[in-house]
Order: sequence, then C-alpha cells, then structure tokens
Amino acid sequence: MTKRDYYEVLEVSKTANADEIKKSFRKLAKKYHPDQNSGDKTVEQKFKEINEAYEVLKDKDKKAAYDRYGHAAFDQTTGGGSYNHGFTGFGNAHSRGSAGGFDDFADMFSNFFHDMAGTSKHSSAGKSGLSTRGSDLSHELWITLNEAFSGKKQTIKYSTLLKCDKCNGTGSASPDGGNIKCSMCHGKGRVITTQGFFRIEQTCSKCNGEGVIIKDPCKTCRSEGRIEKHRTTEISIPRGINDGDRLRIIGAGEAGVRGGESGDLYVIIHIQEHKFYKRQGSSIKCSIPIKMVTAAVGGVVSIPSIDGSEIKISVPHGTQNGTELRVRGKGMPLNQNADSFGDLFVKIIVETPTNLSAKQKEMLEQFDNHASSDTSPQSTSFFQKIKDFFN
Ligand SMILES: [Zn+2]
Ligand SMILES: [Zn+2]
Repeated sequence: MTKRDYYEVLEVSKTANADEIKKSFRKLAKKYHPDQNSGDKTVEQKFKEINEAYEVLKDKDKKAAYDRYGHAAFDQTTGGGSYNHGFTGFGNAHSRGSAGGFDDFADMFSNFFHDMAGTSKHSSAGKSGLSTRGSDLSHELWITLNEAFSGKKQTIKYSTLLKCDKCNGTGSASPDGGNIKCSMCHGKGRVITTQGFFRIEQTCSKCNGEGVIIKDPCKTCRSEGRIEKHRTTEISIPRGINDGDRLRIIGAGEAGVRGGESGDLYVIIHIQEHKFYKRQGSSIKCSIPIKMVTAAVGGVVSIPSIDGSEIKISVPHGTQNGTELRVRGKGMPLNQNADSFGDLFVKIIVETPTNLSAKQKEMLEQFDNHASSDTSPQSTSFFQKIKDFFN
C-alpha cells in the first residue's frame, strides 16, 4: 500500500508552520473521529492516517527527518534508517516483546491513539459497539548489574485478563455473536424520565449507554469477552539499560472488553546493588585493596570484569592510597549494539601490613633507617611545615 504524503493528509502546504499544522489536524481529527462516525471503516482509516501524519509533523525532529527522507525515514525495512532515536536512555524505549525488534513508528502511533482513548470509552475497529480497550499493566523487574551490562531475554509471568476462548472474546455465546438493540432505551443509550415539570435524561442502566446489549451472553466470561488467566511474555532487556527505565510491550496488558484492543505492559527495570561494582551512568566504579609493597614498587593486579573476563590493572610504583586508576572501555555499554563502552574507575586502597612478626618489624625499621626525605615526600613536608608553624 502506498502511503500518502503527510502534508497532503493534513491538508496543509509543505511550508505550513506548527500552528497551521496543529489547526488543520484538530479540524480533521474532529471531522473523522470514530466516535462521530461509528463503524465506518474508511473514516476510521482516515482518522488513523491523520494521526499518523500529525505524530510526525508536530515533532520538530521527526518532521525534519520526514522532510528529508520521506516515509523511508521511519521505515526500517527499506533500510532508510536515517531517523535515529539515538540512545538517550530507555525512558521511552519500546520493545515488541516476543514479536522481536523495535517498531518505533507503530509505538508512536498507538501511543497517541491511547492518549486519545483516554478516559472515554473508545470503540475498537470492526467490533461490537460494546468493546473497550484493556488497561495497561505495569510490572516491576529486578535484574543484576551483570544482566544490565549484557542485556537479556526474560520471560515474565503475571496474571491478567485474557481473551475468553469460549466466546472468542465477543462476549456472546451464539456463533454469530452480535448485539441486539437495548429494549430499555430503544437503542438511544439514554433514558428520559419525567417528574412533574422536570425531564431527567440519564444513561441507560441496562446497556450502560451503549444502546445495544449482547444477544446471548457468554457464561464463562459473563459477557465480558475476557477472563483472568496467567500469562507469560518474553521481553528483551537492552544492553546498558538504566535503573528506573521502562520497557513498553504493546498489547501485553489486559485484553479489551469484548474484543477491544489490548492494553500495554510496562516493565519497570530495577537494578540490584552489586557487591563489588557501583555504576555511575556509563562508568563503573570499584575499590580494591592492594599490598603496601605492591603500591610502593608497582605491580599488576587482576580483577574480574563485569562480564566475567579478567582485567589486568597495572599499579604504578609509588601509588598512593585513594588513587583512582582509569581502565578505558571496561564500563557499561554506551548503546544497544555495545560497540562502545564507558570506563572503569578503580580506587586503590593501600593496605598497611598488620600482625607483623618481630623479624618483619625489624626489617621495616631497617628499611626506614635507609629512607630519605624523598621516600615519603608528603609526610616529610607536612611535618616540616607543622614544625615551622609552631616555631
Ligand atoms: Zn466468553
Ligand atoms: Zn439501553
């Protein structure tokens, strides 16, 4: 299917400014809103098209990408790839779950669609007028720092409302499904009662204002078209994910009422504290104790990196306590491809020898007798300064 030009869809010129685009969108969205044109497929399609166009043209960056590359800017299959969301954290990252891959555009669109659905009941395409979108769910997931480093696929289990198999989500036990006109309000959805002077108009209690009721209600789901079940969903946790990031899995939330669109699942990522490493953005920090002699004469110490490989750290001679050594590229991944990494910062804690034997003490004292002011320049100069001060 060929896509129409977004400017054409919104009936504005290519030079239209943000206000003009917004104005035209509002006008068209009102005109083609499904609530005002129930059941008309072409109108619904048109409404989607308008929203899709507006999603792009209202956003400065997306508009620029579109102006430059056209629809290819958002089409990953054509390899356009020119519009890159970058890797600015995962606050808005979307994952399609088991479907695999990312589909920013579809997400962008459904995002908006859900906003529109908002609090009002929103009828789903082609289903009965009684359908409603399912609720979004959120799920808290704790992972280790190692898992945040290497990314992973994880299956999560949760209980949610799923489509009723008995009635295939229609809520009706009869094979042809279908609704009948509500007898109480005669399909109007509202009933008017007269009390003396007053005419009171109320939402019909029998059909909840829908004007129709299910012909032959399914007993399994009590005509809701959905029942509580356990569900498992596989999610992909991208490399380098941050604590507090949210992954959105479209359609993995509650099933809609009577065939309505499913809600989404938001997985909120928490990263457990690591025993040894502390993460700071893309950097990893740690402290390691080293022997006094190693600090004095220099040497190499090995520590396990976050991915389990060995990192050799050369400690220069004369390293002082608290010195921070930087190991480039041994931090967290900077992007999902993990082709570049932050740095590892190793703080050196020089350990003073304890539990010395008489022999060891003697050797150290001997060493000290041979020491000059250059051996311990800091303490020599400190005590010199303090002496000068009191004199
Ligand atoms: Zn059912
Ligand atoms: Zn009614």
